[in-house]
Amino acid sequence: MTDYDFDLCTIGAGSGGVRASRIAAGHGARVAVAEDRYLGGTCVNVGCVPKKLLVYASHFSEDFEDAAGFGWSVGERQFDWTRLIANKNEEIGRLNGVYRRLLDDSGVTLFEDTARLVDPHTVAIGDATHTAERILVSTGGWPTVPDIPGREHAVTSNEAFFLDGLPDRIVVVGGGYIAVEFAGIFHGLGADVTQLYRGPLFLRGFDDDVREVLAAEMRKKGIDLRFDSVVERIDRVDDSLLRLSLKDGGVIEAGMVMYATGRSPKTADLGLEAVGVETNDKGAIVVDDEYRTSVENIYAIGDVTDRVNLTPVAIAEGHVLADTLFGNRPRTVGYENIPSCVFSQPNIGTVGLTEAEARERYDDLAIYRSTFRPMKHTLSGRDETTMMKLIVDKASERVVGVHMVGPDAGEIIQGMGVALTCGATKAQFDATIGIHPTAAEEFVTMRTPVATA
Ligand code: NDP
Repeated sequence: MTDYDFDLCTIGAGSGGVRASRIAAGHGARVAVAEDRYLGGTCVNVGCVPKKLLVYASHFSEDFEDAAGFGWSVGERQFDWTRLIANKNEEIGRLNGVYRRLLDDSGVTLFEDTARLVDPHTVAIGDATHTAERILVSTGGWPTVPDIPGREHAVTSNEAFFLDGLPDRIVVVGGGYIAVEFAGIFHGLGADVTQLYRGPLFLRGFDDDVREVLAAEMRKKGIDLRFDSVVERIDRVDDSLLRLSLKDGGVIEAGMVMYATGRSPKTADLGLEAVGVETNDKGAIVVDDEYRTSVENIYAIGDVTDRVNLTPVAIAEGHVLADTLFGNRPRTVGYENIPSCVFSQPNIGTVGLTEAEARERYDDLAIYRSTFRPMKHTLSGRDETTMMKLIVDKASERVVGVHMVGPDAGEIIQGMGVALTCGATKAQFDATIGIHPTAAEEFVTMRTPVATA
């Protein structure tokens, strides 16, 4: 027990903040959480969860088409955006309630107001001030739109989840996770989609085969994917029409333009500077290996630290921090081999090194790659290719990278994450019996490398 009001005061009730708070409370700490927006943060409200629901919704258009090859006649199809958004909002409301109960049941005090650091042990929340022995900043991130003329006409993913209706023509700007996911969502729901990316090939940082295969698949579906394309300005033509002027002189007209050009740590107005919490040039809070900021008793986790911006990573960081500080169980998060999925259509699943990264780290590699038509499409007739790839370090025989573009890649790659975390060798992959007939079995049946070096 200390003289402070709380042992821990957490600013931000997103995935990481809530996990840290309730685990700390479970260890007996007196915990407060301040949140001025929504419980569950980006993931629950304007991120992973609603995004995945929209991905499901958008896939029905292909499913209805594919059904014909299996003998089904599907009658007239109609899509109602308003109903989808209402149902999505209801589900998110339910999850907000789940988060509230999680905090309540673990005895955490929730303040639904804006928090600002006053000094290293004092937080102003609304009109009151509270003291805490330790403070955790887990405020997450916020979408950024480049400073071009007319940027106020653009929406971001935040607004995309609450549109009144779905415009017929949509431009998505950006080439990261969010841009490719939303290009697929809008296209599947019936909009004419153009995606613009400033570089020669989108999804920088992913394996090159993955990037190329996904680009080809998105184009086959009818998405107008343009690389080396930069927007110079956006003008409003009328209530329902925007005009984008491109650097190469091109013009595109659309009912909506969505920017998915990255997210910035949410550190403004937190009072960080005043108490001496160091941030980097992107505004991210700088932390050491134990999530400690430049102020000894102030910690930060999740997207606000701009390291690995994924919900499960923030949750792991929050859990580890609470166990370390209050549970007498010092632990660390393993940042190697974090699997992730881009919910593009088709999905990308990836864990470990890209081929380019592996070439930098190891002298000799064996690359296994398989491309094939998913079995389902032998009858549906859809022209879609699945690509699966293993990268093996020949010296240790360990599999150091696994990549896939294809249906359910996210589901499949989770198990590959376990294998890589265990340090599995190619021989152990080969000794694993496949499940037939699945796409996943390809990962244990690729025998001949396509390249060695
Ligand atoms: P990303 O950082 O992944 O991608 C940003 C994209 O915008 C890049 O293609 C980048 O290009 C481009 N870009 C950046 N600045 C500009 C600019 N000024 N003009 C034009 N283009 C620009 O950000 P996202 O917004 O897609 O997602 C944020 C993070 O959220 C992701 O990194 C990921 O960690 C997380 N996320 C994870 C998901 C998942 O796990 N499924 C889903 C959604 C988000 P360049 O590459 O050339 O820099």
